[in-house]
Amino acid sequence: MSETFKAILVSRDADKKQSVAMTDLTEADLMEGDVTVAVEATTVNYKDGLAITGKAPVIRRWPLVPGIDFAGTVISSSNPDWRKGDKVILNGWGVGETHFGAYAGRARVKGDWLVPLPEGISAHDAMAVGTAGYTAMLCVMALERHGILSDRGPVVVTGAAGGVGSVAVSILSSLGYHVIASTGRNAESPYLIDLGAAEVISRDELSQPAKPLAKERWAGGIDSVGSHTLANVLSMTSYGGAVAACGLAGGMDLPSSVAPFILRGVSLLGIDSVMAPKAVRLEAWRRIGADLDLQKLASLSTTIGFDNIMDAARDIVDGKIRGRVVVDM
Ligand code: NDP
Repeated sequence: MSETFKAILVSRDADKKQSVAMTDLTEADLMEGDVTVAVEATTVNYKDGLAITGKAPVIRRWPLVPGIDFAGTVISSSNPDWRKGDKVILNGWGVGETHFGAYAGRARVKGDWLVPLPEGISAHDAMAVGTAGYTAMLCVMALERHGILSDRGPVVVTGAAGGVGSVAVSILSSLGYHVIASTGRNAESPYLIDLGAAEVISRDELSQPAKPLAKERWAGGIDSVGSHTLANVLSMTSYGGAVAACGLAGGMDLPSSVAPFILRGVSLLGIDSVMAPKAVRLEAWRRIGADLDLQKLASLSTTIGFDNIMDAARDIVDGKIRGRVVVDM
């Protein structure tokens, strides 16, 4: 008899009403792919929260195992790049959206989607980073490419106590930036300062409708909030600065003007992690291995068990999760 493993399955009835259940699957239930991985750790990202709660149409194939990130060990492969025993990470590529994802004991995926687990990083650490942390690194790399290095002036991080935000604060501070952390949770100020923030500001300062231009406060920004927050960050960016935009936790709109772009030469840098090419992923994970302090990573993450994924999914959508959540299988 085939070995079973536990999984979370999201289904939809004829009226398109979504339901979520724990179930047992076998490898025969998995979707097509040339590499099968024993999942050792996963995580709960904001997108996973949206998928499980059904708050946004993340899932586009029914029924589906959600979960956009995993780390684990290859158990079988017909892909020349991977062999049994290889330690691998997967982030994105539609996994947990259109392809069976991480919330199962096994995952079968395309080998081209996998990257090797960097030296010195465990499966647990890799999921403490997860898509949120890898995206934070993509944002840092985009600012660097634009010449926003630590000597150019402060960098603001919005949604700072969240997953992308916490990792961004840690990486930027390790690289010597003066980090201004914006949060709606004032009680998290000591946490953000421990991660390396030089200043903590209230999210209220950035949540009202933005003026076309406001006083210049920072050389750059990493924004995971969108909407008025991103508009304010842009209007407060100094001449020639840049803002990496990766999220929509506060809204998908951007009620801004062209003033920061045409009067201050500010650049808006769009960041997508899901379809990022393999070379970019490999560089981001190399940089994570080099520039992310593992002690800070441990302090910004909490660990839960497989049975707690659904609760964490609801909490992250309600803005109640601090930092990153790791799921040990
Ligand atoms: P989290 O929920 O961990 O963090 C989001 C943070 O945003 C919250 O912790 C909170 O921070 C802040 N926030 C939440 N709601 C609001 C609001 N209404 N107004 C202002 N601030 C708010 O999520 P993640 O860090 O995992 O993801 C953040 C965003 O980035 C999401 O939109 C996600 O979809 C996106 N993302 C995009 C990726 C890409 O490829 N472009 C990849 C990964 C994530 P605080 O309490 O400190 O104010």
